[in-house]
Amino acid sequence: MRIPEGLVYLDNNATTACAPEVVAAMEPYWGAAFGNAESAHFAGRLARRAVESARAAVSGALGADPGQVFFTSGATEGNNWIFQAFADSKSAARRVAVSAIEHKSVLNAARRLESFGFEVALLPVTQDGVVDLAAAREAIRPGTGLVSVQLANNETGVVQPVRELAELAHEAGAFFHCDAVQALGKMPFSLADLGVDSAAFSAHKIHGPKGAGFLFLRAGANRFPFPMPLAGGGQECGVRPGTHNVPGIVGLGRAMELLPDASALARMKAMRDAFETAALVAIPGSRVNGAGAERLPNTTNLFIPGVPSDILMDSLPLFCVSNGSACNTGAIDPSYVLQAMGLSRDKARNCIRVSTSVSTLETELQSFLNALRAAKDALK
Ligand code: PMP
Repeated sequence: MRIPEGLVYLDNNATTACAPEVVAAMEPYWGAAFGNAESAHFAGRLARRAVESARAAVSGALGADPGQVFFTSGATEGNNWIFQAFADSKSAARRVAVSAIEHKSVLNAARRLESFGFEVALLPVTQDGVVDLAAAREAIRPGTGLVSVQLANNETGVVQPVRELAELAHEAGAFFHCDAVQALGKMPFSLADLGVDSAAFSAHKIHGPKGAGFLFLRAGANRFPFPMPLAGGGQECGVRPGTHNVPGIVGLGRAMELLPDASALARMKAMRDAFETAALVAIPGSRVNGAGAERLPNTTNLFIPGVPSDILMDSLPLFCVSNGSACNTGAIDPSYVLQAMGLSRDKARNCIRVSTSVSTLETELQSFLNALRAAKDALK
């Protein structure tokens, strides 16, 4: 398939382009250095060394211990792993709490537990899309065994009060898991300071390859409180048995070394702010969802009155933006995240997400805004 000339990619919360440095780092591991990281011979040791240096890059970037990092296929697997491990623990606490705006890989993992007889509490959010701490205090009570809340939302970029929620969970005697996929590389954070027991990540959101990610377990493998949900060889200390995806892991390690620094994040934020200011002027009646909350510097979720976003997007074929999470496209339902923030179904249907990366140009955002305004006027 040919990529059309002039395509503008503004959907970096769905996935990012692999950085050229990442592609170059992975290249040898498809070919000459193809060994199995568990093999005792030279080819195996070469692969094992690459896996361990990637683990050092991941743990180093996060201020974690290498023994707390376990390679997976990505956050969907990491999120499900935690819910399954908890279900297998035969915990006496039969209650699970998750926010109403979690990604489907958390929401549906929680619903699966519901079918096993667990009670699921959905934590509501404020109009700005932040988990309501007063409501959470009520919901996360003794008898709750697992709490899972994301660090930043994929649709709005709104940052969640994870430190406070982890504290509430621990006071109730619950395990706290965090889906931190969208926060990585877009805001500084320390997993130790946040106090999370586990966190899930995907490489493809940080200019790494698809199908690679990692699970952070604060207690490591040996002191992890629940049974390991997967059976197999002993890879990743039994957390993730199965032959290592060596090229993917190497790419992930390289991507972690390339995470943007504070000045790159500040540039991103300035560009987003300028875009939002211009958009609010150019499109009368428009609003930024979650504007009153702390947000990721790369995400704008814009309400555009009058025209449903799918129709608008159809008339902007050269611009890759989203009207929901990528995993929801094709579904007719307007965003449950925006509805949880109090938007009506109709209003939620009129929203577009723009998500940039460090390589997005100001001119790309400008040309998107010009095209958006023209398309809206034409459709009126
Ligand atoms: N959580 C969040 C918040 C996400 O945005 C995504 C990706 N859309 C995932 C989990 C799942 O990640 P993956 O598809 O890489 O498993």
